[in-house]
Amino acid sequence: MRQLIRGRTLSFHADPAETENAFTFHEDGAIITRDGLIEAVGDYAALRDPDLTEINHRPHLILPGFIDTHIHFPQVQVIASWGAQLLDWLNTYTFPEESRFGQQGHAPAMAEHFLDLLLAHGTTTAAAFCSVHPQSAEALFAAAGSRNMAMVAGKVMMDRNAPPAVLDTPQQGYDDSKALIEKWHRHGRQRYAITPRFAITSTPEQLAMTGQLAREYPDCHIQTHLSENRDEIAYTLSLYPGARDYLDIYESHGLLGERLLLGHSIHLEPREIARMAETRSRAIFCPTSNLFLGSGLFDEAGLRAAGVPTGIATDVGGGTSYSMLQTLNEGYKILQLRGQKLHPFAAFHWATRGNARALGLEDEIGTLAPGTMADLVVLDSRATPAMALRMARAETLAEELFILQILGDDRAIAQTYVAGQPMLDRNRKAA
Ligand SMILES: [Zn+2]
Repeated sequence: MRQLIRGRTLSFHADPAETENAFTFHEDGAIITRDGLIEAVGDYAALRDPDLTEINHRPHLILPGFIDTHIHFPQVQVIASWGAQLLDWLNTYTFPEESRFGQQGHAPAMAEHFLDLLLAHGTTTAAAFCSVHPQSAEALFAAAGSRNMAMVAGKVMMDRNAPPAVLDTPQQGYDDSKALIEKWHRHGRQRYAITPRFAITSTPEQLAMTGQLAREYPDCHIQTHLSENRDEIAYTLSLYPGARDYLDIYESHGLLGERLLLGHSIHLEPREIARMAETRSRAIFCPTSNLFLGSGLFDEAGLRAAGVPTGIATDVGGGTSYSMLQTLNEGYKILQLRGQKLHPFAAFHWATRGNARALGLEDEIGTLAPGTMADLVVLDSRATPAMALRMARAETLAEELFILQILGDDRAIAQTYVAGQPMLDRNRKAA
């Protein structure tokens, strides 16, 4: 099936922080999709075709769908929980909540809510942590598959320092992960991420099994947490007294590489930064979470200068919004506190092509390049009275994007497409 989607199209083909001509913008643009793929993008006048079904989104912007590179699916009902920093927050709110995902029927119901929320916020792909229970990953992959959404996800492996209801064992974690990989990895658009939660909740035996999985399935992602909070780092190093630093724990178990997504990566030692750059391991910035849990300020410019690839993410439920727009807003403020700048072009690149590159999926998502999937977000820069009033004075595309970045949220999402299919009406009915 072919269709034409008309709007003000914007897509990045390079990183605006590195090159001047990083994007293509068509004020009266169009995207032709065929069977879920982008067939062509350009000026409407050049692409119009009376034989095609036409959907007109003008004056809204059309970008590639947002990508969230770190989020916790089982935390949809602990987002906005008061008063704790990381380790307390996990013990008080998160682990008890995640234990519910072992109950019959809970994970499938929450998976639908989770995907409804992502789509309502314009996010079409996420790298998601599930609970320790394999049925949580089953539920998320099945729900994403039925919507044709590309998910990167995995059941967490954790075998200590948490209540028994959310623990596995090294062998069970290995067996369950392996079965899920065999069933879901590259099944449709689904991809598996081997997911040791973090070093505190995995014994050396479990991390060894994680390394074994990474060797057996080298094209699976690996996702975990690194150096989020000072107490966490001290506790971690006390559990691994032989480690040179926090990263060394993952390094010594063979986990480093371009498929590794390291959530937070805030309080890093010079050796860790150098090794992340050499191995192309990804540092994932989670601004709303870092502020909410009081964790610290991500050093974007420092990591960039060192050559560490980065992504940006919500980290719901430590994060406080599903919106990548609000994530970019808080990211801007964190970088302000570090004396760094997040220009709107760099911001929107990060949430689309940048995050696709962090996941190694830029051939499938993150741009409007022909041949990639037609996962799109349609942005309304006048979605609220305050935005409309501010937009009346905006003169440039950069200004408009910055208004979306600072004032936008799910109200600014006029439509979300997954593989060429509009998802939002269905989503609003479901919600
Ligand atoms: Zn996290």
